[in-house]
Amino acid sequence: MGYLFLAIGLCISVGLSAASYIVLETPYQPALLALATLSACSIFLCFCFCVYLDTLHSKRRANQRENQQLKMLLEHGSSAMLLLNPKLEPEYINHRHATLTKLDVEDPKKLINTHKWKQHVAPETRRRIREAIAEGKAWQGELRFGDSEFDDYLATTITPIYNSRGDLSNIIVCCEDISEHKAIADRLFIREHYNVLTGLPNRQFALRSLSATIDKCAALQQQFMLIYIDLDRIRYINESLGHFVVDKVLIETAERLRLAVPDEQLIAHLGADEFLIILDTSSGNDSARELAEDLLERCRTPFYIEQHEVNISASVGLSQYPADGNDSNTLMRRAEAAMFAAKADSGNRFCFYDESMSHQADRRLDLESHLRHAIARNELELYYQPMINLTNHQLVGVEVLLRWHNSKLGNPAPDEFIPVAEHSGQIIAIGSWVLEQACKQIIAWSQAGLANLNVAVNISNKQFSDGDIVKNVAHALKVSGLPARQLELEITEGLLINDTPTIRRQFKELKSLGIHLSLDDFGTGYASLSYLKRYPFDTLKIDRSFVKDIDHCEDSVALTNAIIAMAHSFKMKVIAEGVENLNQRRILRERHCDMVQGYLYSPALPAGPFLEWAKRYAEMQHSKHV
Ligand code: C2E
Ligand code: MG
Ligand code: MG
Repeated sequence: MGYLFLAIGLCISVGLSAASYIVLETPYQPALLALATLSACSIFLCFCFCVYLDTLHSKRRANQRENQQLKMLLEHGSSAMLLLNPKLEPEYINHRHATLTKLDVEDPKKLINTHKWKQHVAPETRRRIREAIAEGKAWQGELRFGDSEFDDYLATTITPIYNSRGDLSNIIVCCEDISEHKAIADRLFIREHYNVLTGLPNRQFALRSLSATIDKCAALQQQFMLIYIDLDRIRYINESLGHFVVDKVLIETAERLRLAVPDEQLIAHLGADEFLIILDTSSGNDSARELAEDLLERCRTPFYIEQHEVNISASVGLSQYPADGNDSNTLMRRAEAAMFAAKADSGNRFCFYDESMSHQADRRLDLESHLRHAIARNELELYYQPMINLTNHQLVGVEVLLRWHNSKLGNPAPDEFIPVAEHSGQIIAIGSWVLEQACKQIIAWSQAGLANLNVAVNISNKQFSDGDIVKNVAHALKVSGLPARQLELEITEGLLINDTPTIRRQFKELKSLGIHLSLDDFGTGYASLSYLKRYPFDTLKIDRSFVKDIDHCEDSVALTNAIIAMAHSFKMKVIAEGVENLNQRRILRERHCDMVQGYLYSPALPAGPFLEWAKRYAEMQHSKHV
């Protein structure tokens, strides 16, 4: 504006001086006139120039104001910002921003122009950024700076600014430090896709890899093998030595698998004690067979954890793509079915899938789904097998044996459906039902004249670990009115290894209810004799596999002899099950076995026929003594 006033002033003063010169009638002098005109023109030019300068100046000030505002905006923005000129030279940077301090961009060129930018921003990303700028569009994305150990992640927006003439005037780079979010996201990803204990990919990850492998192999017409590994006896280790030891076993197993499996092949920890391997078998199935053998060997090599020597083994099932299935679900199910087949015969072996295994798996599913309605549909019935005192031949009690009437499934035997009920958790409801019905039956018989009969009910280990056995027993006694001393629970050796405080407490509470505890199937499990001292068993039940051989095998006699002597030394009564002939009974009697049960007397019978049998037996005994 100042220039303008100056110019106007000059013009007016020169104009006035020229006018006064003319008015004062200066004689006509062309040279003078030319000079005056020239000076007027130059003054006019000067005026124009001044006007131009003024406009330019005010524009620059307006620009400065705008820049000032922009910088204020950048300065107080919550993100790290850089204002670059079209040559990518920084014009402004909000230095104080923590993100940039962290990135050490005191010299901002380090960030954009140089080596660091080139080193960390992939050529493809740089190309996309250049394209976006050329098209006048903003680019948004994540940039990663830093070394492999300490990464800084910046959520970045790069916005080109074009002036009214369409020229690139500035580029605004706006960065948000998302390293922390990223670290959390990474941790979440790891939690979601890896097993926390072993660090191996988990089931979710494995299923995704399996689908990807199927896609790849379908395209390349290749084959691969799915190897399903389940550790044997881990449950017992868990129950006896606790979670800590099991965790260590699992960690070491994962390590052993890593060493056995070739690089690049997926090993996953599906959960609990189950592992999965996807093995490329384009060179043939021999590699899978060799690997399976190697895995078994590695798993049965003892683990030394703290002061314990832990011995486990593995059951391995293999299914092959595409021969055994061409989708992940089928392949997994079939590898699992093969694993179950391997486990069926006490584990420590591998099985390739074959069709019969699917039938077994389908059968298990069938049993499980029908069992769900078995109580409501009245398909379950209790059978009773007499227990006889060997000294006086009196009927002292009954063992309750469950029967399932389901003709569609071929009336499955307890050995088949009890494990299914245990696996599916249905044993809790079924077990409670059995207890209550059995107690009520004894009361009903006592009202029918068959008094003082003891009743032995088989209890699954799951009823201890997953159910509330103490509450169930108390409830059954209460609703039936059966005196506690007439109820005996048959527990198998597997539970003994469960030397946990919870089980000890349950035992104590059961004993304080006044019931009896019997150790079933003695000699077939893993129990060590030392456990016998710790638990308050009243009766020890010799497994029928010993009794079966007792009349022709010296070893069985010696063993039975030792078991009876030991039980008596612990003040336990001894009952032998599976007595089928007089010879077996004689031997047992000579060895001071207290009670027997078996087909020699009667198989398990339904309640009605049992009452008939008991009456006949009592009459027979009576007539013998008369
Ligand atoms: P367990 O408790 O050892 O039952 C004895 C089994 O031996 C019964 O088989 C019985 O029928 C059979 N047995 C009895 N005497 C003889 C004999 O002289 N010779 C032969 N060869 N066998 C004889 P069952 O009824 O098939 O039961 C099998 C197993 O199923 C039982 O073994 C028990 O562990 C389980 N079980 C049966 N009922 C129940 C139940 O209500 N709850 C639970 N948790 N398990 C049950
Ligand atoms: Mg039993
Ligand atoms: Mg038994």
